[in-house]
Amino acid sequence: ESADVVIIGAGPAGLVLGNILLRHGVDCVVLERADREGVENRARAGFLVPNTVRILERNGLDGGVRRGGREHGVCEFRTETGRFRLDYRRLGTGEPHTVYPQHELVADLMARFLDGGGTIRFGTEAAAVADADGPAPSVTVRDADGRPGRWRARYVAACDGRHGAGRRSLPPGTVRHHRDHGVSWLGLLAEAPPSLDAVGYAVHPRGFAGHMARSADITRYYLQCDRDTPADAWSEDLIWDELDLRMRASAYGPLVRGRIVQRSVVALESDVLEPLRHGSLFLAGDAAALLSPSAAKGANLAVLEAELLARALVDALVHGDPEGIDRYSERCLAHIWRAQEFSHWMIRLLHERADPGDAGLFRERLRHVRLASLRDSASRQDWFAEQYVGI
Ligand code: FAD
Repeated sequence: ESADVVIIGAGPAGLVLGNILLRHGVDCVVLERADREGVENRARAGFLVPNTVRILERNGLDGGVRRGGREHGVCEFRTETGRFRLDYRRLGTGEPHTVYPQHELVADLMARFLDGGGTIRFGTEAAAVADADGPAPSVTVRDADGRPGRWRARYVAACDGRHGAGRRSLPPGTVRHHRDHGVSWLGLLAEAPPSLDAVGYAVHPRGFAGHMARSADITRYYLQCDRDTPADAWSEDLIWDELDLRMRASAYGPLVRGRIVQRSVVALESDVLEPLRHGSLFLAGDAAALLSPSAAKGANLAVLEAELLARALVDALVHGDPEGIDRYSERCLAHIWRAQEFSHWMIRLLHERADPGDAGLFRERLRHVRLASLRDSASRQDWFAEQYVGI
């Protein structure tokens, strides 16, 4: 079987790419390991930056976000010395986030692609990309029953995340910049309405705790935990007690409790691959770079890269202009490193004990000052707001 562009992975990156290509009449297919239900129910990100909404809008993909997204523009920091709020939609570039759960965005993009005549091969796992250095690459696949197959292509877009076939198929010598931040979060989804009208960041001697709205009755919480903690180590009561303690509920009001419907331990790691193109193979989204969830940039970068790649492939295939594909890697990397820098700054803002091995107390004092200047300095607040909603 063959298609001009074979896209591996039906996440935000693969589906934005597929939709734009389809709209421009480019022959493409999406290969996805999971079944449709599995993809539609994978709850992850929720905060879209304004540029993501603009990308969806200009490509006619914003129907669901317009209907179901809610503007969000305040965050609250809670520390040992009190709490302060930043109304970031009135600072910096003066723009808010849009809260819209990633799995709903993915469901919209998938429906749009299929309704428009696109093909997604569910239950099809890409094993490897072959002959990427030449003009006729191919993707070897296995279907859900383990039967092997092969897709021939002109270009292959690996949008299959950090453990996908794209990364596995890179030539030796590809640079992977990697950083383990030495911090883990227990990520939780609670069947409970948000407890505050802000993103909540609590810095506590027992570790970080976070609160992020997802919908009227679902809220995401994070608890910093030891690296080897099993996700089910804590009972629901223990989780809520710990969240109450770290979010200082006794001083600032109780958290609305509810059933914990999903939990996983996330090690805060970052990496960037360089370059993002190898001949006819392109990497986009988490396959290109992994962002720690500290600044909520991963899904947003995935959408940005997908649009850049789509335009480049349309120029190459429809107009015979290779400039976009030649510059794809360099253009994406500029955005990726900016997002990495801010995510890294957030990690160091929010955690005691970040980066084990460093002089702990020295870094701890710096962290206090960093938070205090964010509380007290108007220019610092403008900078934060610009970075927070920027990409
Ligand atoms: P994915 O969404 O991972 O999609 C990749 C797809 O490829 C999947 O459907 C997978 O099944 C498929 N696949 C994988 N391997 C293969 C294969 N070999 N063959 C075929 N198919 C394959 N980002 C934000 O911007 N904001 C947030 O608030 C935020 N919160 C997060 C919270 C958590 C707990 C986590 C884990 C992540 C969070 N992120 C957030 C990051 C964000 O979810 C990712 O950056 C985003 O999903 C990346 O999109 P993607 O399309 O590159 O990859």
